[in-house]
Amino acid sequence: MKRHRGVTLLEVLTVCAVLAALAAIAYPILAQVKERARQTGCESNLRQIGVALQVYRSDYGGDGRYGDPIEMGLPLSYDAANRHAMLPAKEVWICPRYPEAAMSYYLFYTYHPDTRRWDDFRRFSLEYESRTPLLYDPKHTDQRHIYSPFYPNRMIGLLESGQVVNRVRTGDWLHPRWWNDER
Ligand SMILES: [Zn+2]
Repeated sequence: MKRHRGVTLLEVLTVCAVLAALAAIAYPILAQVKERARQTGCESNLRQIGVALQVYRSDYGGDGRYGDPIEMGLPLSYDAANRHAMLPAKEVWICPRYPEAAMSYYLFYTYHPDTRRWDDFRRFSLEYESRTPLLYDPKHTDQRHIYSPFYPNRMIGLLESGQVVNRVRTGDWLHPRWWNDER
C-alpha cells in the first residue's frame, strides 16, 4: 500500500493561525521591551547629568544648603549648564524616546527669581531637601495620543540627592510628595 499524504489545507491554516497568534503576543512584548530600554537610557542620561551637576555646583560655590538655586550653586538655565565644560555632551541631554529633540530635560526651577516656580522650588527644597526634583523629562509619557507635557503618565526625573526617579504618575506632578516614593 502506498502512503502518499500531502499537507492538508486545514493543517496549513492551523499553522498560519498559530503563527499569527504568536506574532500578536510577541509584538506588544517587543514594544514593551523597547520602551523599557528607552526608559533605562533616559535614566542613565539623568544619572550622568546628576554627577556632572555636582561638579558644576562645587565650581560655583554651591554649599549644599537647600533653598535658593543660586546659593545651591545650580545652573540657572539649560544654556548655562551646557556651557559648563564638565557637563555631559549634547547627546546625553536627549531622551532616547525622542531622539529628534533638541533637548529633553528641563530644569524643575526657573532662572528668574520673580516667578512662582522659583518660589515653588525654594519652598519644595526647604521642605523636601535632597528629594527635591532638579530635572525632569516632560515628554516621556505613556499617553501617545493626548500629548500634554505637564500631565504625563510617567515621570522620569533627577532629584537633588542624585537619585533618578521613574514613576507612573499618581498625583499632581507639581506636588513634591509625588516625587518622594520609590517606584
Ligand atoms: Zn525620557
